[in-house]
Amino acid sequence: MAGKKNKTSEYRKGQEIKVHIIDIGMRGEGIGKLEDGYTVFIKDAVIGDYVRASIMKANKSYAYAHLDQILQASPDRVEPLCPVARQCGGCQLQALSYEKELEYKQNKVRADLIRIGGFSEEEIDRIMEPIVGMQDNTNGPWRYRNKAQVPVGYSTAGKKAGRNAPGRVVAGFYAGRTHSIIPMTDCMLGEEINKDIINRVLTYMELHKVPPYDEETGKGLVRHILIRSGKYSGQIMVCIIVNGDSLPYEADLVDHLVTVPGMTSIVLNTNTERTNVILGKQLRTLWGRDEIEDTLHVYDISADGGFVPSAESVTFRISPLSFYQVNPEQTQKLYSLALNYAGLTGTETVWDLYCGVGTISLFMAGHAGKVCGVEIIPEAIENAKANAARNGIENAAFYVGKAEEVLPAYVQARKAEGEDPDIDVICVDPPRKGCDSKCLETILEIRPDRVVYVSCDPATLARDLRILTDGGYRLRKVRPVDQFGHTVHVECVVLMSKANT
Ligand code: SAH
Repeated sequence: MAGKKNKTSEYRKGQEIKVHIIDIGMRGEGIGKLEDGYTVFIKDAVIGDYVRASIMKANKSYAYAHLDQILQASPDRVEPLCPVARQCGGCQLQALSYEKELEYKQNKVRADLIRIGGFSEEEIDRIMEPIVGMQDNTNGPWRYRNKAQVPVGYSTAGKKAGRNAPGRVVAGFYAGRTHSIIPMTDCMLGEEINKDIINRVLTYMELHKVPPYDEETGKGLVRHILIRSGKYSGQIMVCIIVNGDSLPYEADLVDHLVTVPGMTSIVLNTNTERTNVILGKQLRTLWGRDEIEDTLHVYDISADGGFVPSAESVTFRISPLSFYQVNPEQTQKLYSLALNYAGLTGTETVWDLYCGVGTISLFMAGHAGKVCGVEIIPEAIENAKANAARNGIENAAFYVGKAEEVLPAYVQARKAEGEDPDIDVICVDPPRKGCDSKCLETILEIRPDRVVYVSCDPATLARDLRILTDGGYRLRKVRPVDQFGHTVHVECVVLMSKANT
C-alpha cells in the first residue's frame, strides 16, 4: 500500500505540523497523533492543546517535535507557579490542572494494567478505586517534600563575563544535561525555610572563600546541600556533601546554621568520587544529633474509602543516608492503605519485602502476630531494628539480603524441618524495576492468603500482577496514591488474594 510505504519519507526534520495533544508521555511531554496514526512527542504541550510544532527528529512511526505555537490552549492548562518550571524539568506536569493530573495518573495505572497486564477493562473498572489525591492549595499540592538536595557551583554568568572570572557561588539545579547550575533556592515543592538555609551556607562560603566542587575538574569542596525535615517533629537536618573530609572554619558554618528554627543536626558527608551519586558513605556530625526523627500517623479507612485519623502512630529516625519517603502526608495514607488491604486480625505472619527502614513492617506490626522485613541495604536494616525498638515493637524481625534470596532460603529451611512456611500475608514494595521473577515464584510456592503490592511503576506492577494471576491469584483492589504531585511519577497499592477464595 502506497500510504504505508511512504510513511518514513513523509515526515522530515524541520517540517511543520498541526496536531491535537491527546496523551502525556513518560517524561510529561504531550503526545499527538497525526491523521495517519503517526505519533509526535512535543515537550511542553499539554493534553487538550491544539498546537503548531516543527519536527526535530523523525523515526519510522514517531517523531520528536518542537512546540512553536499553541493554536488553541487546553481548558486544563494552568500557569505554572514556579518561574523555572520549564528549565528545571523536575515538575513535568505543572502546566496541567491538578484535577487533570490526578485523572491522568488514574488512567495511567488503568491503561497499564489492561495493556501490559492483560486484565480486562471490565475487571479493572469493577475493582479500581479512585486515586488518593493531595490537598489542593492553589491548583495543586505545594511544599510537600521533606527532602531537598541542591547542587552548589559557580554561576555560569560569571564565567561568561570574563574567561577567568569564577562567578558567584550559587545553588540550584543543573540545566538539562549540562554541568551548569541555574540558581534556584526556593523550590516550591520543598519547605519554605530551605531558601534561608541554603543562603546561610552560601554566605558562609562567600565569607571564607570556600570553593564549590566543579564536576568537570573534580576540584573544589562543597558539592551539594542536603536538607531533611521532620514534617511532624519540626526537626531539621542539614548535611553538607564535601569533596574532602573537612571544611575550613567549620565552627563558623555551624554558627550560621544553628539559629535556624528547628535545627537539630548538622552533618558533613564525604564524597570524593567522580560520580553523580550524591552522597558518600562517610559522615561526621558537626553539631547536634546524628539523626532527626519524624512521626507517621496511621489512618483507618472508612467503608467509602475515606481516611479517618486513628490514635496510632510510628516514629522513625532518619539519617542522611536513610531511604525515607519524601511526601510524609501521602506516605501515611499509602501505608495505611497497605495495612488495610492486608486485612490483619492480630494473629497473622506478615513478610514485608523491600522493607527499607521498616516503615510498612512497623505500620503492620501492631495488627499482626509477627512481621519479617527483608531489605538489601544493611544500614537500612540497622535503622529498621532501631525503629522497632524505639516504638516498643517486639514482634518484628529484619533480615539483610535480596528478597529473591532470603525468602526462598527461608522456605527451604522450613521445608527441611518438615514445616510449612506458614506466611499469611506478603507485602512487596520494590524499586521501579519491580519484583525479581524468583521472588514472585517463591510467593506462588508459599501461597499466602493475601499479597499486597505497593508499586512506584505501573508498568512493572502490571507485568508482576499478570505472573501472580497466572499462578492462581486474583486482583481484588487497586488504588493509586499521589505521592509526587506535579511530577509524572505514579504510586499505587494493590490487593491480591487466592483466586479460589
Ligand atoms: N518499603 C520501604 C522502601 C521502599 S523502596 C518504604 O516505603 O520506605 C525499595 C527498597 O527496596 C529500597 O530500600 C531498596 O534498597 C530495596 N531493594 C532493592 N532491591 C532489593 C532486593 N532485590 N531485595 C530486597 N530489597 C531490595
